[in-house]
Amino acid sequence: MSRELEVEVAPTCISSGYCRNFAPDVFGAKEDKKSYVKTSPVVETPRLLEAFESCPVEAISAKDAATGEEVFP
Ligand code: SF4
Repeated sequence: MSRELEVEVAPTCISSGYCRNFAPDVFGAKEDKKSYVKTSPVVETPRLLEAFESCPVEAISAKDAATGEEVFP
């Protein structure tokens, strides 16, 4: 069964847009082009994990919504 994840984007985001390309349903762009999380918690999917891994500055973090366990990074 898939887990639900609490996702956060840190202020260190450099507006690359990669996470939004991989998971546009989860990540949106603010006026300054930095990403924000549109909806959380979200169901863990391979595509979502690709979005996390795409971030060049490791600005994305995620925890298991049920247990609080750190899932990413
Ligand atoms: S991949 Fe990282 S740096 Fe790029 S927009 Fe997303 S959070 Fe920001």
